[in-house]
Amino acid sequence: MPSKHPLPSYLHADSLGPWGSYLQQIDRVAPYLGSLSRWIETLKRPKRILIVDVPIKMDDGTTGHFEGYRVQHNTARGPAKGGVRYHQDVTLSEVMALSAWMSIKNAAVNMPYGGAKGGIRIDPRKFSRNELERVTRRYTSEIAIIIGPNIDIPASDVNTDEQVMAWMMDTYSMNIGQAATGVVTGKPVSLGGSLGRREATGRGIFTVGCEAAQHIGLDIASARVVVQGFGNVGGIAAKLFVDAGAKVVAVQDHTDTIYKPSGINVYALLEHVSAQGGITGFSGAESLANDDFWGIESDILIPAALESQINEQNASRIRTKIVIEGANGPTTPNADDILRENNILVIPDVIANAGGVTVSYFEWVQDFSSFFWTEDEINQRLKHVMREAFASVWQVAREHTVSIRTAAYIIACKRILMACEMRGLYP
Ligand code: NAD
Repeated sequence: MPSKHPLPSYLHADSLGPWGSYLQQIDRVAPYLGSLSRWIETLKRPKRILIVDVPIKMDDGTTGHFEGYRVQHNTARGPAKGGVRYHQDVTLSEVMALSAWMSIKNAAVNMPYGGAKGGIRIDPRKFSRNELERVTRRYTSEIAIIIGPNIDIPASDVNTDEQVMAWMMDTYSMNIGQAATGVVTGKPVSLGGSLGRREATGRGIFTVGCEAAQHIGLDIASARVVVQGFGNVGGIAAKLFVDAGAKVVAVQDHTDTIYKPSGINVYALLEHVSAQGGITGFSGAESLANDDFWGIESDILIPAALESQINEQNASRIRTKIVIEGANGPTTPNADDILRENNILVIPDVIANAGGVTVSYFEWVQDFSSFFWTEDEINQRLKHVMREAFASVWQVAREHTVSIRTAAYIIACKRILMACEMRGLYP
């Protein structure tokens, strides 16, 4: 039956893009929400969308223009929170989906935040450090009207690192005339960043990976792991699995796909990537055609690059036991169904990669109280949050005989919609 309140055209799921995937995920959870489902339309519309022009003076004296976005999906449970991505293919629809997944993620692991995401359509590899600093500062000034330590707190994401967060923090602070460390997370430790933040997402992936492995009787110490994306998330996760005895047999990034059945030396690969900017040219493994990556047999597959990487074209070729979603939205809904039919356990992004926002929350709390915790304290608390979240979704999945993803959405949507109901509609 057509809705009485049709969505504005830019919110339609008529393309198979990330926003379309998100809407399908929401439709799948609706039957489990009971009377709260009357608020579900709220989740299908971002609360606030800001598109900004980011003009900067280029090194050659000309003026460059870049398109920037900040989307606040939902703030029923607290200030908006989510990263900022620099990528040449960033689109509004992608940022909308990423902001919505942040709402779901924050609620799924019970962080007191809503969801947001930002992005700039730029390939940072093509610009100088000075140009990137000017882009970052102008973008921050343009979105300053809707961010703030109690309003919306950006963080790092694809192609944005601690330095970018430091520039954002400084720009916002200069504009308001005081140091506002809590306006972004993922900052350098010297600027109010948290110990353990850089490793947090990978560490969270490792924690839920161990929990999932235990549930299906897989021994991590003899597991074969394949990883797509060898940046902050994939690189750290790979290292932690290797430290636990597992073998990383294949890695893919934007430059190459490499394979070594006896196990890649992940430490050497991390050094190579930090020097060369990608895995290509690494001498310790054989190079494969990119498409062959999806057919490699493994026990654990970690997509840790971009959205929609596991799709109808490759899902049926995947031979693994557990998919741990390091990236946001790496699996399309149709591919999700294929993996489930093939008995592959999927630990969804909104749980699996929540370690990052969890330690971001710790960073924010530390900034507010100006009292900093030890790395050991951070890691222990992180492990506790991840294990609790995993246990809850596992139980709900069993109760309703649904996937872990739908279980996570049931928990998260109930929390968000309960907050909407309690707050009521203003005015
Ligand atoms: P990053 O910039 O550090 O690394 C991205 C990696 O993806 C790089 O290795 C790059 O080569 C690879 N990549 C890019 N395009 C690719 C392609 N077409 N095919 C294969 N590989 C490709 O980014 P990151 O912070 O590691 O983020 C990776 C994913 O994890 C993103 O989806 C991000 O939203 C998600 N995530 C990040 C965090 C965090 O704390 N950084 C937290 C939660 C989720």
